[in-house]
Amino acid sequence: MKLKFFGAAGIVTGSCHMLKFNNKKILVDCGMFQGRKQTSMLNYEPFKFDPKEIDAVFLTHAHIDHSGLIPKLYKHGYRNKIYCTAATKDLCRIMLEDSAGIQEFENKWDNKRLKKQGKPLRQPLYSVADAKKCMKLFKGIQYNELIKVFDDLEVVFRDAGHIMGSAIVEAFVLEDKPKKIIFSGDLGQWNAPIIDDPTCLKTADFVVCESTYGGRTHEPMKKRDQILIDLIKTTYKNGGKLLIPSFAIERTQELIYTLNRIAEKNLIPKIPIFVDSPLAIKATKIFQQHTENYDDEAVNLLAEGDNPFEFPNLTYTLKTEESKALNEMAEPAVIIASSGMCTGGRIKHHLKNHMGKPNTTIFFIGFQAQGTLGRRIRDGTKFVKIYGKSYKINAKIVDVEGFSSHADQPQLMKWLNCFQTKPKLFIVHGEPDEQAALKKAYKSGHIAKLWEEVEL
Ligand SMILES: [Zn+2]
Repeated sequence: MKLKFFGAAGIVTGSCHMLKFNNKKILVDCGMFQGRKQTSMLNYEPFKFDPKEIDAVFLTHAHIDHSGLIPKLYKHGYRNKIYCTAATKDLCRIMLEDSAGIQEFENKWDNKRLKKQGKPLRQPLYSVADAKKCMKLFKGIQYNELIKVFDDLEVVFRDAGHIMGSAIVEAFVLEDKPKKIIFSGDLGQWNAPIIDDPTCLKTADFVVCESTYGGRTHEPMKKRDQILIDLIKTTYKNGGKLLIPSFAIERTQELIYTLNRIAEKNLIPKIPIFVDSPLAIKATKIFQQHTENYDDEAVNLLAEGDNPFEFPNLTYTLKTEESKALNEMAEPAVIIASSGMCTGGRIKHHLKNHMGKPNTTIFFIGFQAQGTLGRRIRDGTKFVKIYGKSYKINAKIVDVEGFSSHADQPQLMKWLNCFQTKPKLFIVHGEPDEQAALKKAYKSGHIAKLWEEVEL
């Protein structure tokens, strides 16, 4: 049996790992590369395998850095099944179509520039039509259901506690000597709002584990709520704006859920709160449908008749005109908008309009990959370019990693320590320092390198 890493090795994006055994090729995730230009350009290179030769795909969750190249896989001939949880399937339907829309839009702009420079034009990575068509390959399953994929392969998807529908893939390869390999996908934090905790698994021969925060420790959850309360109070007092770049899936819903809780306890002033992201609004609807994945606290809230995604002062702005109207708004407000790393979406417009003002606060609640606009702002750059124009930053920058939907080092170790006999560890999905830190904490492990193949 062999394992090959086609992405998310030394970086946190482009997750794609191939398992090879008995002449079969299985992919776990097929994600998009994001961040620095040299990284995102990898999306345009042909796959380093023939998509027609892949026998099955297991998708851990709907985030684009795990699912974003599935329409490209379809475009280049993949027609077998894509296994994921039912919630992931529903989320992918909106995520992939949105991603395709961005691809088509950006391609038009790129081609205008290339034409001017007399260079050959480029095809979009994939079209909205590809994103729609690939959905027919998706097979939504439930957590903890044993799936016999082939005579020599069984899998179980376990809750990874990272985002709605996120899964750990437990694969049983039934060769002469059966072997069990576990792909962590992205692991969440224990006691995160709405969804359940990551599943503790006791046995495995091999574990492929993420390491996004392999060397860091998050602030405790209680402290992070207080930070949010304090920031809202300050914004209310100084008449400014609190801008929160947020990932459309999970981050935004957890934030709304938390705001619902603190607003109902009257811990914050009556300040207008806007969720300004069409994708996040659609995703919130899907969250409301998949109550089977809720944790006890969220189930109890629903049973008491409290819809955690609705409360006074909260407005979802779906239409472009509604979003634009926020620019004219003089009073203090909280604006939650995508994308989480400020690489696109409506947050760029709000940054442009407000980050020059000292009474604006930009509140980062998620991971900011190297090379992204979010990372540059977070790291303290004084000027940034948005849509070709330079803007000065006078806003206050606050960064709280405790809001992340990724486990930190103590939590990754908690999950790894569930195994009764130490499995062989392959460390993926982390920048080099984080990969190295997790290896040190685990006291062994193999740091995966891009396009490397290892024998299991
Ligand atoms: Zn993720």
